[in-house]
Amino acid sequence: MSILKVARMGHPVLRAKARPLSAADIRSPRVQQLIDDMFETMREYQGIGLAAPQVHAGVRVFVAGLPPKTGRETPDDDDDDDDRDRQSVPLMTLINPEITPVGRETADDWEGCLSIPDIRGRVPRAREIAVRAYDRTGKRIEMRVSGFTARVIQHETDHLDGILFLDRMTNFVSLTFLDEFGRFWSHREVVEE
Ligand SMILES: [Zn+2]
Repeated sequence: MSILKVARMGHPVLRAKARPLSAADIRSPRVQQLIDDMFETMREYQGIGLAAPQVHAGVRVFVAGLPPKTGRETPDDDDDDDDRDRQSVPLMTLINPEITPVGRETADDWEGCLSIPDIRGRVPRAREIAVRAYDRTGKRIEMRVSGFTARVIQHETDHLDGILFLDRMTNFVSLTFLDEFGRFWSHREVVEE
């Protein structure tokens, strides 16, 4: 496996629409290798998600996952569902994902991006979504997800259409550098996607 170079904002690959993969493409050694390398790259940079265009591959694939934290919760977390919710994202590879919001409810929360280093901002996203996609074996997946996992899937699927989280912000009042985010805005762990 290899750690791949991550494209940063300004690279045209991040603004291009990625192409769908056929069933044969999905099973090809080239795509399987890409998926393995994307997982390794995501782990190396401590990301929670990584889309193929971020590693200069214009195909509709992303990987995501955040293992559940072990150990104690701080007292602050006890009555905070969002914090508990954000503690894990199932390990997944989604190919040709299609997203439909369930209901109209949206939620604002912090996002970051490996392609926009050291910046955080609050982004409105659908709270719950229905997802249709293929997994890395080419099997059809249908699921409903909500909360932080739904946010990650929306962020990564946007990458496949050349959309960055900044485009989804309704204003830039919350935009902050990572140091200031840590000092003023959050006791939470850093979220990179
Ligand atoms: Zn991103």
